[in-house]
Amino acid sequence: MIELLGDAAASARDISQALSIQEKDIYGHLTHIDRSLDAKGKKLAILPARCLSCGFVFNTRKRFARPGRCPVCKQSHIEVPMYRIDKIRC
Ligand SMILES: [Zn+2]
Repeated sequence: MIELLGDAAASARDISQALSIQEKDIYGHLTHIDRSLDAKGKKLAILPARCLSCGFVFNTRKRFARPGRCPVCKQSHIEVPMYRIDKIRC
C-alpha cells in the first residue's frame, strides 16, 4: 500500500481495488501506515473530502473515515478523501 500511495493520491476505493483489500479494512491500514511513516520522515497526506453540492470541505478531525453527508446542505454528494504519502521537507 505504501508503494501505491507514493505514486499518486488514491481513494479508499482505489486502494481496495488495487490491493484486493476490503474498503472497510483500509482505514485501519492507513492508521498503521501513518505511524510507521513517521519513523521514516514521511507523512501520510490526506486530501479532505469535499461536498460536491455546496463546496464544503470536511476537516480531517475524523481522519480516515468517509463522511456520509454534508453538515451544511445535508446532501450526500461527497467527493471521497484521497490519501498520498509525502516526504517531510526540512
Ligand atoms: Zn454541502
